[in-house]
Amino acid sequence: MSKSKYVTQVCTSCGRESKMEIIGEVVGAENKVWYRCTRCHHSMMLDSAAKKKEDNIITYIREECVNYSPEKIFAVGVSIYHTDWDDMGKVTSKEKTSSGGNAIWVQFEKSGIKKLIENLQLAD
Ligand SMILES: [Zn+2]
Repeated sequence: MSKSKYVTQVCTSCGRESKMEIIGEVVGAENKVWYRCTRCHHSMMLDSAAKKKEDNIITYIREECVNYSPEKIFAVGVSIYHTDWDDMGKVTSKEKTSSGGNAIWVQFEKSGIKKLIENLQLAD
């Protein structure tokens, strides 16, 4: 009843990012695991800690956040704070809305990725 597990790693043999099948623990080295490249079937010993590495970790610092308001304009990379949601976020990109307005995509700490209005022109 063994189920194969896979991680994505750059293969030391074929040099390409490949799906690696975990084939077993390395005897005598607890933090090493044997992997086999699904492309070239080369086996290699890798740090098992490496597979736990996460990319794109955003740290949210309340003091650096600008309070969000739809009339404001925000730059990509700026940290914002949404008072209604009590959530901090980081502006990841900007776009034009279909109605010709401006919108920002924000990665929030709790709410995830949300699209918000910016530079809202208030009608009289
Ligand atoms: Zn390979």
